[in-house]
Formats: sequence, structure tokens, C-alpha cells
Amino acid sequence: MTNSAIIAIDGPAGAGKSTVTRQVAMRLGLVYLDTGAMYRAVTWLLQSLDLPVQESKALQQALSDLELRLEAQPQGDQLVWVNGKNVTEQIRTAEITAGVSAVAALPSVRNALTAQQRRLGASGGLVAEGRDIGTAVFPNAELKVYLTATVAERARRRSADLIQRGLPLPDLQQLEQEINTRDQLDSTRAVAPLCKAADALELVSDGMSIEQVVQQIVSWYEAKLLPPGFS
Ligand code: C5P
Repeated sequence: MTNSAIIAIDGPAGAGKSTVTRQVAMRLGLVYLDTGAMYRAVTWLLQSLDLPVQESKALQQALSDLELRLEAQPQGDQLVWVNGKNVTEQIRTAEITAGVSAVAALPSVRNALTAQQRRLGASGGLVAEGRDIGTAVFPNAELKVYLTATVAERARRRSADLIQRGLPLPDLQQLEQEINTRDQLDSTRAVAPLCKAADALELVSDGMSIEQVVQQIVSWYEAKLLPPGFS
């Protein structure tokens, strides 16, 4: 059976979407699309061009010249390329994380990236994670999941992630504050704010392992999309 479904996984910062989405993609043979990486890549571009975070002719030009490419790796990771430069590591720094929400609020940036995301999903067979996938990018996705967790849990996971990447570690209170600030910016912007789609299934992952979260999403997918007796 060819798998042409689209799964949308949205939720606030640090909810574990990337790890979970990557594993769901591997389990179901779907392409993995990390849309947060795309907003981070544009943030990196603006910073490297020294462009102010506002609508401008120079931003329009940069977006129309932009060649943004996500390259899947065998282990499910992906490399991020901007205009031929590998920015996979650079887009994960604290500086980019602190600046990305303001860039993601610019309508021209959202238009450009949403258009690219829709092209990538045109033939289906995709699991995409972000903030507006089920509400704006793929409103007809076959399965929509809103993945969240308490702020304390998300800060703990973020800190484990930073340790693993060998990046500088702020204290948990500071991490909670950064997560809250980003959620606030992402959920109050004018265009495609973070919110749960009316038809999304919500999963609060506190106390669940990654495997349990992945299994829950795969079960929802099977219940919704496979013919009886197929799973
Ligand atoms: O998921 P990640 O933390 O990498 O996302 C970085 C930022 O990109 C988010 O905080 C949000 O501002 C923006 N974003 C967005 N819409 C998406 C995905 C990410 O606005 N679909």
C-alpha cells in the first residue's frame, strides 16, 4: 500500500516534536519535515546578512533568492542548507532560538516558507512538525496531533538536549522563561499563530517515554487510516 497521507504534529517549544516526528516518519515510511528548522534557517540568513527583523525590500529580495534545502540522513536526522551553505549546527544556537519567533511572525517569511512546505507535501506521504501545520499549512491533513507537556517538563527535556549537543546550559528557571517567552510570541502573532486545530488529537506527554508517544501516534494513524485488519 502506498502511503500518501499527511500527518501534522504541532505544539509549543520543547514538547519533543522533533524526536517524535522523526521516529513516526521512520516507522510509517513517511518523509519527515521539520518546519521549525526552516524558520531557524531564515533567521540565520537575516542575521548573517545583518538585515533588521522587519518587512523590507531587502527581505523580499533575500526570500526570493533563498535556496533552502533539507537533506535527509540515513539515521533520520537532516542537514539544513541555505544558499549552498550547511547551517545545520548554526541554526541550533541560543542566539537563533532567541530570535526566531520575531522572524517567524513576519508575513512575507511565513508566505515563502508555507509555499515551500506545501510544495514538499504536494504528493503526500509526509509527517510535518511545527506550529501551524494542522491549522494553516496542511488544514486537510489526514491526522493532526497537538503534542504538548508542562513547561517544567519541557525545560527539563530542553536541558537534557543541550547537554547532549554539548551546548552551554542555562539554569532550569531561565530555560522555563525562554520557553514561555517563545510560546507567548508564537501564540499571539497575527499570522498563523500557534494553536490547537479544532480537529487535532491532543497528547500531553508528561510522564510518557518517547516510545510511548510514538506508539500512541502510530496507533491513532492506524485506527484512522488503515483499512480494518491491516495493522
Ligand atoms: O520547532 P522549533 O523550536 O525549531 O521552531 C522554532 C521557531 O520557528 C518557533 O518558535 C516558531 O517561532 C517558528 N515556527 C513557526 N511555524 C512553524 C514552525 C516553527 O512559526 N510551523
